[in-house]
Amino acid sequence: MIKKPAAKAAPVAAPEETTKKKIKTPQVIRGMRDILPEDEPYWRHAYETAQRVADAYGFSRIETPIVEPEELFVRSVGKASDIVEKEMYSFQDSDGDKICLRPEVTASLCRAYIANGMFAKPQPQKLWVWGPMFRHDRPQAGRYRQFYQADFEIIGNASPIVDAQVILLTWTFFKELGINAEIRINSIGSPEDRTRYKMELVQWYRTRKKELCENCLKRLVKNPLRLLDCKEAGCRALRADAPQILDWLSAPSKAHFMAVLEYLDELEIPYFLDPFIVRGLDYYTHTVFEFVANDADDSKAQIALCGGGRYDLLVEQLGGKPTAACGVAPGIDRAVLAMKAQNVVPPAQPKPQIFVAQLGEQGRRRAIALYEKLRQAGFVLTEAFSKESLKTQLDSANEKGVPFVLLVGQREVMDNTVIIRDMESGNQEVVDYHKIVSEMKKKV
Ligand code: AMP
Repeated sequence: MIKKPAAKAAPVAAPEETTKKKIKTPQVIRGMRDILPEDEPYWRHAYETAQRVADAYGFSRIETPIVEPEELFVRSVGKASDIVEKEMYSFQDSDGDKICLRPEVTASLCRAYIANGMFAKPQPQKLWVWGPMFRHDRPQAGRYRQFYQADFEIIGNASPIVDAQVILLTWTFFKELGINAEIRINSIGSPEDRTRYKMELVQWYRTRKKELCENCLKRLVKNPLRLLDCKEAGCRALRADAPQILDWLSAPSKAHFMAVLEYLDELEIPYFLDPFIVRGLDYYTHTVFEFVANDADDSKAQIALCGGGRYDLLVEQLGGKPTAACGVAPGIDRAVLAMKAQNVVPPAQPKPQIFVAQLGEQGRRRAIALYEKLRQAGFVLTEAFSKESLKTQLDSANEKGVPFVLLVGQREVMDNTVIIRDMESGNQEVVDYHKIVSEMKKKV
């Protein structure tokens, strides 16, 4: 007789072996975020509106790379700007090239305009872009390190009507989004106007150094115009008495600005003259503007929805022919915040008309083909193919408010039929599988 070996006692696992090692989930990078399906209706509304407005005003969509040479922004946005000084995601790639994630896209568009010989096409070129921008700024509500902009540029014309067209497009964009916004506009004139004004401004501030914040003391040397858009309370109070650039514009610069305002008056677009809008980027000339949200809760600081203006020297500065241009960059994250603050209900997506339900493996195989047949015929459908219980599927159809359920089980597969259930009345009928599209067309 063969003896059974004595049962060995199971080895006792050490406690640390029994508890699973905790795996750390990688976290999203600070200042960046996931935009979830719940928010998608707002984003879709923004994109569709941007596309519609672009089409209506004759803009062509263009894509430029997210990664660009660092030099592109150093030469355009300016060394002394916050963006280039502190906020660029710059790095060296494995070829040793200095590259960066684009902090804005106007400079990219001008690069593309030059590189693709667009000056040889009819002028002006109207181009638009949609996509993410990257700035390593201090994150806070409405300020992210990856954020989205739509960007509309008219390149190749110096006339003030172009400035008005850009503002009109922006006005239409926010209006069609359902956002109540206010325009703040200014002119920073030609570079010569600005040089004279800057000298005056520096002189004025020099005698008031004690009242300036630390940042503004640096700006006084490096970028005096930025003294005017400091957010510190003390500096804001001080600037109220500072010299204003409009008083320093040459006659042609003044005439350009007046013409822009006259076009806006003709269009009955309201605006506020704001002498403190100077914009942080070096490349602007003449008209500069921002739109701010007019939220019901005006206790909050008004958030800037977009920034724009004319930049007549940028293309030349980047190595192209002298080419005047004007554009605007609406911030989409901010537009979504404003829509929510102003209780905008984004357009509803089409509701499913038919729920395709199944019973058993054969039924499920037929159901997926039925779904495809109806989708190709243009119906909006939904399903729960991963569920087995018919009750669960009907509950799901009810929850989604779908008016008709089409059911296929083993029997219907054998008979080549489909059951149509009217969810409101509870009535059911059996129809030929091959006639289902025409039957449903009569009902939906
Ligand atoms: P700018 O390119 O700085 O003129 O910005 C244009 C618009 O982009 C602003 O008015 C904002 O709506 C938006 N924007 C700029 N920076 C950010 C950011 N860090 N986070 C979210 N939106 C931004």
